[in-house]
Amino acid sequence: MMDKKKRIVIALGGNALGNTLPEQMAAVKITAKAIVDLIEEGCEVVVAHGNGPQVGMINNAMAALSRENPNQPNTPLSVCVAMSQAYIGYDLQNALREELLNRGIKDIPVATMVTQIRVDEADPAFQNPSKPIGHFMTKEQALHAEEAYGYVMKEDAGRGYRRVVASPKPAEIIEIGAIRSLVNDGQLVIACGGGGIPVTLQGNHLKGASAVIDKDFASCLLAKELDADFLIILTAVEKVAINFGKPEEKWLDELNTAQAKQYISEGHFAPGSMLPKVEAAVEFAESKPGRTALITLLEKAKDGILGKTGTRIHQ
Ligand code: ADP
Ligand code: MG
Repeated sequence: MMDKKKRIVIALGGNALGNTLPEQMAAVKITAKAIVDLIEEGCEVVVAHGNGPQVGMINNAMAALSRENPNQPNTPLSVCVAMSQAYIGYDLQNALREELLNRGIKDIPVATMVTQIRVDEADPAFQNPSKPIGHFMTKEQALHAEEAYGYVMKEDAGRGYRRVVASPKPAEIIEIGAIRSLVNDGQLVIACGGGGIPVTLQGNHLKGASAVIDKDFASCLLAKELDADFLIILTAVEKVAINFGKPEEKWLDELNTAQAKQYISEGHFAPGSMLPKVEAAVEFAESKPGRTALITLLEKAKDGILGKTGTRIHQ
């Protein structure tokens, strides 16, 4: 057991959830074990997660519906993110409840919070959609999608066309008050799924935005708002590397934010995969003394929090 109860926000990546319905059902069992390990270590855990494959899948399914039935207008992306929160949250909360009960932990309720996150209408990301979602299309299908749905389509490395969406920075978690109450009460909360449902402020109205927020940045904001001690980003690699994939590759155990920024500027981290994680880790570590970010493999979460593995980023 650790000396003091640490509050941890966990950001789950793609490998924690899988790509299909059966894959997700199987993956969340392993994910739940890793999370409950941390609870057994005496940590207070809050769970956030991504939704890349799931939101693409839902988006395609809803587009197929409106092709079949002209009375069904196309589903906004913000609604697809909301659906992905419920779908992933359901599997996760179900698996977490079962794992807690299997270990004799009966006093921790588990719930998923449908979470909206305010983004800035003037965020430059809206002018430069960059995040690919959904399946590949032919040029003809892509042109049709542009005309019929107003999608932005981009050619992806000679493999065909894909829809790209904006990925603005999260500015404010709308449901943070409710999340904080549940967490302070000792409940296990899944929040900010898929980076949160992006919304813009229109007076008292929150308008869904056509975007997908990066889950690494949303988790960072959640960790700051909950005054967490740790932000743990669980992904498909045990550590962060410099010269990744090259002969001089070097796996990092620990780095301060100045070193991390240096490596970022030298281009060591791939945009869209490791870069947002390291950026989110730096932002969290810099936000207050004592805050530490950890990037490691899902299965190594417990070893990571015990200081045995992973890459730690601190001030
Ligand atoms: P997630 O779904 O967890 O967000 P991503 O695939 O987006 O996962 O990002 C993790 C991947 O980033 C790793 O599997 C690895 O292939 C890649 N990666 C890119 N640059 C680095 C680096 N410098 N060090 C480690 N992994 C890196
Ligand atoms: Mg990712």
